[in-house]
Amino acid sequence: MEWETVIGLEIHAQLNTVSKIFSGAATAYGAEPNRQACAVDLGLPGVLPVLNAGVVEKAVMLGLAIDARIAPRSVFARKNYFYPDLPKGYQISQYELPIVAEGHLDIDREDGGRKRIGVTRAHLEEDAGKSLHEGFAAMTGIDLNRAGTPLVEIVSEPDLRSAKEAVAYMKKLHALVRYLGISDGNMQEGSFRCDANVSVRPKGQQAFGTRTEIKNLNSFRFVERAINFEVERQIDLLEAGGTVVQETRLYDPDRDETRSMRSKEEANDYRYFPDPDLLPVVIHPEFVDAIRGRLPELPDAKRDRFISEYGLSAYDAGSLTASREMADYFEAVAAGCDAPKLAANWVMGEFTAALNRSELVVEHSPVPAGALAQLLVRIQDETISGKIAKEVFEAMWAGEGDADAIIDARGLKQITDTGAIDAIIDEVIAANPAQVEQFRSGKDKVFGFFVGQVMKKTRGKANPAQVNERLRTRLQG
Ligand code: ADP
Ligand code: MG
Repeated sequence: MEWETVIGLEIHAQLNTVSKIFSGAATAYGAEPNRQACAVDLGLPGVLPVLNAGVVEKAVMLGLAIDARIAPRSVFARKNYFYPDLPKGYQISQYELPIVAEGHLDIDREDGGRKRIGVTRAHLEEDAGKSLHEGFAAMTGIDLNRAGTPLVEIVSEPDLRSAKEAVAYMKKLHALVRYLGISDGNMQEGSFRCDANVSVRPKGQQAFGTRTEIKNLNSFRFVERAINFEVERQIDLLEAGGTVVQETRLYDPDRDETRSMRSKEEANDYRYFPDPDLLPVVIHPEFVDAIRGRLPELPDAKRDRFISEYGLSAYDAGSLTASREMADYFEAVAAGCDAPKLAANWVMGEFTAALNRSELVVEHSPVPAGALAQLLVRIQDETISGKIAKEVFEAMWAGEGDADAIIDARGLKQITDTGAIDAIIDEVIAANPAQVEQFRSGKDKVFGFFVGQVMKKTRGKANPAQVNERLRTRLQG
């Protein structure tokens, strides 16, 4: 039987406010355990939460960016459950009235088209503390620093049909929060994590199958692998005559499998009720309009502009706008050398490869945009060939100086002096009479051999176009 996969993602993004969602305690990552949780975060008696206005503003930015409805009135609710990292016994979240609802995000499909993914809702909530299992022999430590860190939970419609689509959606959302500057999106530190709801159904069937929820996936690779494993597991189960149990599962990257964690609780198990300590959040249209006016250019708009303004292909424009930093870098290079397509090729090619090799992000590149632009100018004014430019780039990356300094120091200036090139060509022709004979009897293939010889003799420094032209003339002559 042919099966269809159905996926809906619940993504948690930490909002990058300096202080917590309901208290003045710091949100900075990596402090010594239990130094950044105050009485409010712990829910001690006699203290009251106060909503951080910055959190509301960031949620509204997100809502506008996904074309959603911003609720004029939203309500915080208590979600009650017991867990050691939740000393209050409840998490403050939003339930019936979330701050953002009914948005959407477009993802790029593999066939080049686009697909619209519905966003059911995005609500505000506080993060819980953390259980630490490291270095405690048979014990677990509780670190409450994270308690009260602001989160926005973004819930998608079950519109995703493959692990690849799920990853594309997650990446798109990740880029979006970073463009908006509302979250650092740091996945290693847990600032951006995902629960994947997965089910399968016979192709053509209308009703959804029973789903499982894989908790807390914190890398794109794990999301893809966990979903693929889970889809296979469910299909095998159903084809063997079994049924899928609705439950929460954990992904184990070491074994590349998902395992049952607990049976799924229903919403009514949480006994949600409006938090009596917090007022409803009332948002006026003027507040929304002011934020709309401050939104930066978003990935889709930037991508479209790169296509129309720089004449880039949709693919190139898409990869260059995948992050704001990369897009800014590209634009600075393009402006500096006045050759957008050359800039695009270099930024996506050599530059990205070098970043990957050095495991660096754009912001920490040892070659600033202006320096790369200067190198590309030297290709255009024919001081060096594209091939030599790669050598110069490596040296720039290694910190040997700017393009001109390296070209000088290494004597890489291209030979464009026709006389000099002709002399070398003549040497090569004289040294290879057999190949000359072959060429003249119609074997055009040996032409490449001559080009290679000339380039070798000049250590790659001869102007390739010139070599081609002069060589042909002299060989035919
Ligand atoms: P809960 O609040 O219990 O987690 P929701 O109904 O709010 O459940 O859905 C949570 C997520 O699960 C959403 O992203 C939704 O799109 C997704 N989802 C719901 N039903 C299915 C299904 N049958 N298969 C896959 N995903 C689903
Ligand atoms: Mg859920």
